Amino acid sequence: MTVRTRFAPSPTGYLHVGGARTALYSWLHARKHGGAFILRIEDTDLARSTAESVNAILEGMTWLGMEYDEGPFYQTQRTEHYRAALDKLLKEGKAYHCYCSRERLEALRAGQMAHKEKPRYDHHCRDLKTPPSGVAPVVRFKNPLDGEVVVHDEIKGAVIFQNSELDDLIIARSDGSPTYNFTVAVDDWDMRVTHVIRGDDHLNNTPRQINILKALGATPPSYSHVPMILGNDGQRLSKRHGAVSVMQYREDGFLPEALLNYLVRLGWAHGDQEIFSLDEMIALFDIKNVNRSASAFNTEKLLWLNQHYIKTSAPAHVAHHLSWHMGRLGIDPAEGPELVEVVKALRERAKTLVEMAEASAIFYKDFNQYEESAVKHLTAQAAPPFSALREGLAGLAAWEPAAIHQLIADTAVAHGLTLGKLAQPLRVAVTGKAASPPIDVTVHLLGREKTRQRITRALAHIEKTAS
Ligand code: GLU
Repeated sequence: MTVRTRFAPSPTGYLHVGGARTALYSWLHARKHGGAFILRIEDTDLARSTAESVNAILEGMTWLGMEYDEGPFYQTQRTEHYRAALDKLLKEGKAYHCYCSRERLEALRAGQMAHKEKPRYDHHCRDLKTPPSGVAPVVRFKNPLDGEVVVHDEIKGAVIFQNSELDDLIIARSDGSPTYNFTVAVDDWDMRVTHVIRGDDHLNNTPRQINILKALGATPPSYSHVPMILGNDGQRLSKRHGAVSVMQYREDGFLPEALLNYLVRLGWAHGDQEIFSLDEMIALFDIKNVNRSASAFNTEKLLWLNQHYIKTSAPAHVAHHLSWHMGRLGIDPAEGPELVEVVKALRERAKTLVEMAEASAIFYKDFNQYEESAVKHLTAQAAPPFSALREGLAGLAAWEPAAIHQLIADTAVAHGLTLGKLAQPLRVAVTGKAASPPIDVTVHLLGREKTRQRITRALAHIEKTAS
């Protein structure tokens, strides 16, 4: 049997971390078993579905690198499949038309509530001999009246539902449009899905879908219901807890592999291993080992992973993601040193790509002013060695960090200064800030022309403020 999994988001908002995690688990399960991963957009709720959300979901999937083998399928474009399944059930007497008016159903419900009974349909039309005329009926599923449905959940174990607790579900509205549980069952059947991995808020739908699948003559897939994600206060994760949209994490400067690594560990473990490459995830992930209880989101740990991936990923890979952030800050990577070299110089310090992009600005753009806390280093004492350095740098044969370092050291000695007493003013002169990567690396990346121009600017500043 070929494994076939699916991610089936409803496009009513962005791709949030909970959805991304279920998608990841489905994706990993398919990849692990050499199977297929299907993307299905459940957009039948016309009032709440938007094209914008579809785009946001596709964008999130792409950014995370979860490529799908089939789809995206759109439920709104699959009407004929639902119609055929509906006709089949009606023909075989496994579904029926229900003509009950809203008033009748409301009265029924009110009566049941008054008797403290669970509100449910009373099967009035289930065996109706003569349908009333002039009423557009809905279609109800003939749920078995007794017995039980056992959901053999891969994560939660066996979960038992009594058929007597399940209603004769409306599977098509009076305008013929199919309803949610029916479309899911038809699609899982039609798309030959073998493993449904989804949030456990859907567990109550599962016995209904199993009954529909059986009525259609299908073998139900295996089910895994993933517990939800909580915020740090134990409440269900929501916007209140900060970013929950996957693309917000991109904007906040996270690498996709850091988020993937974080999400795979959120609710799943392999010993005490924290870092997983994609290949390791695929090899080691097992849906059966997903926690039964909810997991709490921990932003600190995500930041730690992000830093790890910024430091250890191939610089060209980091540079690729960094350039997007530079674009957002209006920095043109063509206006300065090779991005890969900048990544190497900055990756030890940056927790996020936003920080790295901000720090990269000094190499590509002139700064407007010296930082307030740094400008005090530009004293009259720094002027003579600055002039000497500007000359020395012009004549430096090898534009290499080691040679630059030597020149700065020699210049300091010649002016009776310690290295630090020259390096710090120089740092302020060329970056405008009191902190930067090592000064020789900084000057090297900045290049001969820009370094000399900035020393000239600092000299002018010293002259202006000294007089
Ligand atoms: N469309 C559902 C949702 O976004 C998922 C349904 C499923 O996975 O079966 O919550």
